[in-house]
Amino acid sequence: MKLEGDTKLDYIDVLIRPKKSALSSRQEVNLERTFKFPNSNTSWSGIPIVAANMDGVGTFSMMRALGKHRLVTALHKHYDLDEYRAMDKEHTFFTIGIKDGCEEKLEQFIRKYGEPRMLLIDVANGYTEKFLNFVKEARKMAPTSIIMAGNVVTGEMTKELILAGADIVKIGIGPGAVCTTRVIAGVGYPQLSAVIECAKVAHKVKGFVCADGGCRNPGDVAKAFGAEADFVMLGSMLSGHEEGDQDIIEINGKKFAEHYGSSSREAMDKHNGGQASYKAAEGKKILVPYKGKVEETVEEILGGLRSACTYVGARRLEELPEQTTFVLVNRQLSPSI
Ligand code: 5GP
Repeated sequence: MKLEGDTKLDYIDVLIRPKKSALSSRQEVNLERTFKFPNSNTSWSGIPIVAANMDGVGTFSMMRALGKHRLVTALHKHYDLDEYRAMDKEHTFFTIGIKDGCEEKLEQFIRKYGEPRMLLIDVANGYTEKFLNFVKEARKMAPTSIIMAGNVVTGEMTKELILAGADIVKIGIGPGAVCTTRVIAGVGYPQLSAVIECAKVAHKVKGFVCADGGCRNPGDVAKAFGAEADFVMLGSMLSGHEEGDQDIIEINGKKFAEHYGSSSREAMDKHNGGQASYKAAEGKKILVPYKGKVEETVEEILGGLRSACTYVGARRLEELPEQTTFVLVNRQLSPSI
């Protein structure tokens, strides 16, 4: 047994300290970034916020709404091959896992539509050799695709995945709003520290990271970018909107949508014909208040980010990390009266 002594941090443990700034208005802040990826050797420009590949979040309707703002959507894994003809290639990850049939799904996609512009290889545990080999194989099959792969939370595995062919490594084990890995398995890593540590290693080898999970408000998104995340993936913050294409439930005159984890019993029942007996669900279902169109939420997130940039004098999102000083806090909010 080993015990690491330094305390790791979540978004809730810090705030961003304001700094003298030459910016006079939030309008001056540019949230678009351009990346040159190491393995696909291609470039991409846009606002690097990604809707998670979850039911009720990673939908084609979400893709259309977010694409207008040049944000990205990772489609959930449950669409049929024919449906991808509606894909906005510049703002959409085609998502696969590594189970039986996933390699074939990628093969079929390539045969029908060519190499995906953006490919996400998504598993709960990115530490298996099988996953690493799958990423290598996918890179051979799709040499020009922007490949994002994850999830992991440590520098050494981030580096291995980039060397295996990933352009972007997705960071996060345990921080998701409907994730129960921390309580079921006792496994995880506080998300702010995971992002800081993995981004450092990724950038050294010219790769990138996507901070996935744990953002509960626009301020957390700003903290993730401040911690050197290149992309930020959002699940719960984008759940409960019209674009989730879900049934809306009414309770006592109030509207709600179901939001469930991809490894929850609900997801297993829906997509896998039930939970395998050797597995415990590592996700849960919650009811989230129905929020209408996602447009307003997007405006709020982008507004928050612009505000954070203005407070620290970052003219572009790319400058946010170098302008960020985190302060450790005991509480996030001032006490209410
Ligand atoms: P959120 O933005 O809601 O905090 O986190 C979204 C992320 O939670 C997803 O992108 C995914 O990585 C993770 N996630 C989604 N469903 C599950 C689940 O059932 N179990 C676990 N362990 N993580 C999940």
